[in-house]
Amino acid sequence: MSEQVWVVLQHREGKLHRMSKEAIAAGQRLAGEIGGTVSGVLLGSGLGDLVAQASAFDLATLYTVDDSALQDYNPGAYVAALTPAIREQAPAFVVFPHTYQSVDYFPRLGQALDAALVPEVIGFENGADGLIWQRPILGGKLQARVRVKTSGTVLLSVQSGAFPADGAAAGQADVEPLPSVPSGLTSDREILEVQQVGDDQVDLTKADVIVAIGRGVGGADKVESLRELAKVLGADIGASRPVIDNGWLLDADGNVERERQIGSSGQTVAPKLYIAAGISGAIQHLVGMKGATCIVAINKDATAPIFNIAHYGIVGDLHEIVPALTEAVAAVKG
Ligand SMILES: Cc1cc2nc3c(=O)[nH]c(=O)nc-3n(C[C@H](O)[C@H](O)[C@H](O)COP(=O)(O)OP(=O)(O)OC[C@H]3O[C@@H](n4cnc5c(N)ncnc54)[C@H](O)[C@@H]3O)c2cc1C
Repeated sequence: MSEQVWVVLQHREGKLHRMSKEAIAAGQRLAGEIGGTVSGVLLGSGLGDLVAQASAFDLATLYTVDDSALQDYNPGAYVAALTPAIREQAPAFVVFPHTYQSVDYFPRLGQALDAALVPEVIGFENGADGLIWQRPILGGKLQARVRVKTSGTVLLSVQSGAFPADGAAAGQADVEPLPSVPSGLTSDREILEVQQVGDDQVDLTKADVIVAIGRGVGGADKVESLRELAKVLGADIGASRPVIDNGWLLDADGNVERERQIGSSGQTVAPKLYIAAGISGAIQHLVGMKGATCIVAINKDATAPIFNIAHYGIVGDLHEIVPALTEAVAAVKG
């Protein structure tokens, strides 16, 4: 078993997925921990500029598989390309971003390789008997520390926000075809249609700044001050589940903006700044936002659990604090 770490990179429409950079950051940390090297793996067809994007990180090698069978993501061709390469090169760890795409095929890959699988990793440490992985279980209510007892390659996926993308070190990787990939890869899935999320719908996973509204706001008629704060900050609006369930956040057509819910049954976000206003900090909310780089909590209850993970806490009535904050930000921005 070599002390190699591989990171399988995800991309769409010619751009690396944000979480690919997080996976690189995780892979680099892991390689540092085990004293090994980290390499990227890029699969697709007509990779073009993606190779330049992916090789601009501190990777020993960027392995590529450029094959028409990989034009659209399909699990069969992905598993067929990766299985012999992993079997023969035997990297110690293969890191995936924990995305819908990865979870679609990486259990199948694990089965093909008879490899250990550790999904949704949020951290790791060196234990007496090897690496210990941290991962949330039971919808984030508990955090498990697990150790892999088998030998051989370990496949793991890293949860959004656990290893911030700006931790990925830049560099210049050598680019090589992934060895041992069989010829004649075939797609085992026909994509009939890709339904694009409408332009008017939000994708909070890409937001740098989020102002999140909780039940403490007190009603649909009271969210305007938070919209103003979001506007001056150039932020997106997010919400806890009760705000969505109560229909307090509506679009211009009066539809409930469900895609703004953050948490275990909503989106998982990792902005640079997350302002939680009137949010208590229930575990189902925290699992969706605790990867934010800086968390500012506003709550009138000084014992609210949100303060346990907040970097900055403001105790008080959000209806007084938010307008004052908006004014202060606007003044700074001139
Ligand atoms: C299966 C399941 C899935 C779930 N999924 C999600 C999910 O995806 N996302 C999610 O958010 N929740 C989810 N929940 C619900 C979750 O358990 C909590 O009930 C919810 O997160 C609480 O939302 P909240 O913090 O806005 O409201 P509350 O817990 O009611 O907290 C309101 C807070 O506002 C403060 N407050 C009140 N007035 C003011 C004021 N004027 N100024 C400042 N602070 C004030 C209060 O002190 C309090 O801390 C889920 C629950 C279950 C069972």
